[in-house]
Amino acid sequence: VRRVGIVGCGQLAQMMAQEARPLGIEFSFLAEGGENTTCVEGLGTIVQITDDADIESLYRAMGEPKVITAEREGVSAELLRALEKFCPVYPRPDAFEKTQHRLREKTAITAAGLPVAPFLPANNYDEICAAVKQLGYPSFIKSCEHGYDGKNQWRVNSDADLAAIANDVPASEYVVEKGIHFSREVSLIGARTADGKVVTYPLAENDHYNGTLLVSTAPAPHVSEELQHTAETYLATLMNAWDYVGVLAMECFVSDDGLLINELAPRVHNSGHWTLAGAKTSQFANHVRAILGMELGDTAAARPAVMINMLGVDKKPALQNEGVWSYGKELRPGRKMGHVILLDDSQEALATRIDSMLEELYGETKRPA
Ligand code: ATP
Ligand code: MG
Ligand code: MG
Repeated sequence: VRRVGIVGCGQLAQMMAQEARPLGIEFSFLAEGGENTTCVEGLGTIVQITDDADIESLYRAMGEPKVITAEREGVSAELLRALEKFCPVYPRPDAFEKTQHRLREKTAITAAGLPVAPFLPANNYDEICAAVKQLGYPSFIKSCEHGYDGKNQWRVNSDADLAAIANDVPASEYVVEKGIHFSREVSLIGARTADGKVVTYPLAENDHYNGTLLVSTAPAPHVSEELQHTAETYLATLMNAWDYVGVLAMECFVSDDGLLINELAPRVHNSGHWTLAGAKTSQFANHVRAILGMELGDTAAARPAVMINMLGVDKKPALQNEGVWSYGKELRPGRKMGHVILLDDSQEALATRIDSMLEELYGETKRPA
């Protein structure tokens, strides 16, 4: 049998295993530092990293997988490099290293000749102020590391906003970005094999709430063929430049100056969950196919789809028609507990149902608490 090892035990690892086990692939999971493993229980061997464990015995305990991948962009590149002595690690440790640090990420995107929002590095509050003066209001100040779901970042619209965060930004690495006036946020998910075959999904349009993805609609309703093509070219350029293997997700702004890349995730992505029901081959199955060097599956959207996150709620809504994915996690405020997928014949028909679903999940406000 072919065995895949996954570093990480959250819902992304869970869905990779659920989607690829029907292909006859087995899984084992490497748990870092007391990480909660409930999402992957019953889906394969779970190996805990202990302080005294050497890498070779971890690899053996995982059942000597043919290839290793990771589900979190913050994974230790050092750990991945050590594992690489025993089998290929895809995406490559380099890809994690670039994308887990915003300055390295933006520098790498720019080096590939692709557009991002104007940005400046800053290492302390004074440098942040100088950068904001240069870029103007609004600006975004983002910690280079450990930022996700809008955490560790600040939007400043005025001198007063900038003064107010003086004590929130200790000396550390930041990027300061010009605030982009965008009409929409879209994301593109693609997969590449080691021998250079690339597939991409239709763009998804993403709506965030309090910095966290809430609704993804695919194919993105307001997107031209030209924009889709531009996004595909950007993603393929990056994947080829990095000799990338696996699924890569690219978040973009549709701005007055065209498409700008916001950030990348070297893994399956929340804005691709719609593919579980809305595409012939899910992003999870295609990720596993890509890292094993198997033929990549069809990425076309069968019907318009929408994915709605269950943030801080875990329900079985009656209005869903394609399924509820509940990750089996302990309920906590704001936590990603699962998602629902709706499919319909047209974007218009779908749009009217999103509101009712949000109401069913979150009550009158239609928004997470
Ligand atoms: P994720 O959970 O997607 O990893 P994150 O914490 O890494 O999020 P970003 O994606 O960089 O953060 O930013 C979060 C959101 O803030 C974006 O989706 C966008 O809505 C807004 N935003 C970020 N940067 C800018 C910018 N330069 N101009 C305008 N809006 C921005
Ligand atoms: Mg991010
Ligand atoms: Mg983001």
